[in-house]
Amino acid sequence: MSKPTIVVVGGGAGGLELVTRLGRRLGKKGKADVVLVDRNSTHIWKPLLHEVATGVLDSGQDEISYQAHSASNGYRFQRGTLCDLDRDTRTLTLAAIIDDDGHEILPARRLSYDYMVMAVGSVSNDFGTEGVADHCHFLDSPAQAEGFRQALLNTFMRYSTRMTNDEPPCITVGIIGAGATGVELAAELHDASRMLKSYGFTELGREHLRVHVIEAAPKILPALPDRISQAVHKELEKLGVKVHVDTRVTKVDDHAITTSDDERIDIDLGVWAAGIKAPAFLSELGLQTERNHRIKVAATMQSIDDPHIFAFGDCASCPQPDGKVVPPRAQAAHQQASVLYKNLCAVIDDKPLKEFVFRDRGSLISLAHFDAIGSLMRAASARSLFIEGNLARFFYASLYRMHQRTIHGSIKTAMMVVVDGLNRFLKPRLKLH
Ligand SMILES: Cc1cc2nc3c(=O)[nH]c(=O)nc-3n(C[C@H](O)[C@H](O)[C@H](O)COP(=O)(O)OP(=O)(O)OC[C@H]3O[C@@H](n4cnc5c(N)ncnc54)[C@H](O)[C@@H]3O)c2cc1C
Repeated sequence: MSKPTIVVVGGGAGGLELVTRLGRRLGKKGKADVVLVDRNSTHIWKPLLHEVATGVLDSGQDEISYQAHSASNGYRFQRGTLCDLDRDTRTLTLAAIIDDDGHEILPARRLSYDYMVMAVGSVSNDFGTEGVADHCHFLDSPAQAEGFRQALLNTFMRYSTRMTNDEPPCITVGIIGAGATGVELAAELHDASRMLKSYGFTELGREHLRVHVIEAAPKILPALPDRISQAVHKELEKLGVKVHVDTRVTKVDDHAITTSDDERIDIDLGVWAAGIKAPAFLSELGLQTERNHRIKVAATMQSIDDPHIFAFGDCASCPQPDGKVVPPRAQAAHQQASVLYKNLCAVIDDKPLKEFVFRDRGSLISLAHFDAIGSLMRAASARSLFIEGNLARFFYASLYRMHQRTIHGSIKTAMMVVVDGLNRFLKPRLKLH
């Protein structure tokens, strides 16, 4: 029998880990043709996007070229955006790639598969709130994070020149949604504004930045235990962040956010971080999906409609023994990638598949250099351990290091830790161009 083709669509937190393991185990040994498809040519781990957005992280330094990575890890890379799927002929279609000037770089292409894995992640859900799509920034992709960073920098530049007048300038950022993304972004913004002074914006400081975080639920970090939520709330207020809870946003325009109490919060920049959904095209592929477009899969991560299609990460609704579904988190995508890798090897060897059970290792929130707060789950019980400060910061960083270790191996990851440490002394702490 000819070797099977496994196509993984989406090289994000889960997809890149999966394709790396498959490439090393099956691709390099000629047991399968492993192909990664992604609409971008480079990978940035999504939980770092709020750092890219504030310039604390230079995406140019941390991004991975899929082409280069594939060459040394036994898989092939095809750049393209999945736009159609024909399950009868087991082919998928990638849209044509067009450059900024409108010229076609590559025409639409069809790829055949024996097994396909959907790992296309999620996008923001603005729930149709008026003005959000036109007037808010989103942090769904590296390009959007870069777009926000540029807008922020431009705003800082504009304000630093206006400071020659007597008016007391203040830049106001409104962040809608106080989940992990919203609160971490608020803290990073304060950190970035603090650093601007050392890079020649001598007149600017933290006192010139006002951040509003607006949350519809009665507390920030609604999905996390009260103790974490209260501790983070206190820290944000210490930084001067204005936290609004129980406040629903009804409209956003170029200059203000309007709430359900008819309060108008003037802003220079708005960020929507209040909810996610899977990309809508997933509901048009003939597979059963949930209302938020997540593909319905069995606990083995196989689509309930087609045993040749698997889905995992943010774009899949994977049932758990307690009746819930796997949460959309990097931690879950990492664990799923490891089980799905085994399942795809098992499918090829005609062996039974494993059911995925999510092990919640805890939740950690990083408040830039100011603090980190969270909880770790005790292995032997369902109880969690509250942690703060350097210990929390260490465990927060370890999730990214685990991702790097899967992709690069232990030695290269250790070298990256050293290089990151050195760069802190050698390079500016903020990307200012
Ligand atoms: C700012 C921010 C902070 C976060 N912080 C945390 C955290 O601290 N802890 C945590 O556990 N989780 C965090 N998350 C959530 C976490 O990032 C996601 O749960 C995780 O990235 C999901 O992994 P994934 O592989 O499913 O999708 P992603 O990592 O989003 O990857 C999807 C990939 O699919 C590609 N793609 C999309 N559509 C197509 C298409 N049509 N064709 C081809 N390719 C396509 C994309 O380019 C991308 O490479 C955070 C998210 C954000 C935005």
